[in-house]
Amino acid sequence: MDTRVLIAGAGPTGLTLGVELARRGIDFRIIDAATSAFAGSRGDGLQPRTLEVFDDLGVLDEVLGSGAPPFPIRAHVGGRYVGERRMVELTEPTPDVPHPHPWVLPQWRTEEILRNRLAELGGHVERGVELLDLQQVPGGVTARLSTGTARAAFLVGADGGRSAVRKALGVDFVGETDESIRMLLGDVQVTGLDHSCGHWFGSAEDPARGIALTPLPGTDSFQCAAPLPDGVETATLATLQAQLDEFSGRTDLRMHDLTWSTVWRPNIRMARRFRQGRVFLAGDAAHVHPPTGGQGLNTGIQDAYNLGWKLADGSADLLDSYELERLPVAASVLGLSAELLQRHVEGHAEAHRRGPETHQLTISYRNSPLSRDERTTPGRVRAGDRAPDSPLRDASGKQIRLFDLFRGTHWTHLAFDAEPPATSSNVQAHRISPTGTSLVDPDATARDIYDVSPGTHVLIRPDGHIARITR
Ligand SMILES: Cc1cc2nc3c(=O)[nH]c(=O)nc-3n(C[C@H](O)[C@H](O)[C@H](O)COP(=O)(O)OP(=O)(O)OC[C@H]3O[C@@H](n4cnc5c(N)ncnc54)[C@H](O)[C@@H]3O)c2cc1C
Repeated sequence: MDTRVLIAGAGPTGLTLGVELARRGIDFRIIDAATSAFAGSRGDGLQPRTLEVFDDLGVLDEVLGSGAPPFPIRAHVGGRYVGERRMVELTEPTPDVPHPHPWVLPQWRTEEILRNRLAELGGHVERGVELLDLQQVPGGVTARLSTGTARAAFLVGADGGRSAVRKALGVDFVGETDESIRMLLGDVQVTGLDHSCGHWFGSAEDPARGIALTPLPGTDSFQCAAPLPDGVETATLATLQAQLDEFSGRTDLRMHDLTWSTVWRPNIRMARRFRQGRVFLAGDAAHVHPPTGGQGLNTGIQDAYNLGWKLADGSADLLDSYELERLPVAASVLGLSAELLQRHVEGHAEAHRRGPETHQLTISYRNSPLSRDERTTPGRVRAGDRAPDSPLRDASGKQIRLFDLFRGTHWTHLAFDAEPPATSSNVQAHRISPTGTSLVDPDATARDIYDVSPGTHVLIRPDGHIARITR
């Protein structure tokens, strides 16, 4: 084999997987057909669970420093100001949820941060290298690339909605593309518009129809979304300007410096399988979403985070669990995105509001064969759930958090008021007690959050989900 893992596609999914493999010292290649990096803001909403993943990957500070919390939106209907709204309610962190609301960052910047992290770990994207076809051979995969042939033990198709990997496998992409809804999208600067908040200009006849402009942090641009007028097929500066003029009823707002634009159609599709032999599908290659709810990029990142440690390990039960765990999640996330799109199309007054259902913190693998809850009476937190955060103190009295213990490529064993077992080098074990010389949980906050009694052991996987709870 030339390499252990060949990753086709260096969007957010492929890059996350690259970082996961690189920090475990796994030999891999990551290729991308495009000769330059993607320049659009597309998936600009990072969900709370993604921020937790980014903490583990070592990119959180840069993501938080480069982005901003969701902006309030000033709404105008028929040219009249009708008030300020928030799509997302900003809430305070809690002991178990350090990042309670989404964070706004243009997708090109998220990708840049992940690429920089990959470079720090010694990896790099091979640009202008397209996967054309593949063949599964005993013990591996032979991929035909635009630059020659590559042989790998595993291949991951992170090559987006039109995935060549998925097509080469002959895996159906079931669902629909709704041609009746089409939108203009673009990243553009607007002279005359306050960049410290978002703007909605709705029509007097139908206030749910209009143009939305959301500031893109770290830039002078807005992400602009508007309906596609009849007879128009391309998203040019002139088309966007015409929509802004029509819906705002103003002549003083001038658009310029359009850096990315597209005509978008809702595509709601999912691959029937996420794995065939030694080939895996992840991200948009496996499922495509409408942008309502901001789930697509986030779900792709979670796929990669679920798959990375399993590929590094390579054991059959872990590799089998990828599809078992991620396919149901993608199906339910698609259902949520589609429902939000429907509410949007029907013009529900609250259609733009986003709540905790979109945060991806409740995604659980309770039904996975990797999850074992051995208690007679399971608590609120079960095997398969995301392992929550909690404040603690170390032996010297210094404040630390459970997430500090999870950070890295190892498993974590938490022994609540119990002696931690002798573990292998890839498991870090900690005793957690209200008093004593180990990790101190003075008010039993961690015990409450985990809803466990003294003597309970919790084993946490490298991707921050609980594998086993025993007592
Ligand atoms: C308008 C719009 C708004 C969106 N808003 C949101 C949002 O708010 N929140 C959210 O979470 N998501 C959002 N999304 C979705 C998000 O952009 C995607 O889900 C995300 O880009 C998927 O990442 P990916 O890495 O799986 O695929 P992609 O980003 O599509 O990356 C695939 C990569 O593979 C490369 N490639 C393709 N074919 C080949 C080949 N044959 N060989 C090698 N390389 C190949 C491509 O060049 C590309 O770099 C939005 C999408 C759109 C279009």
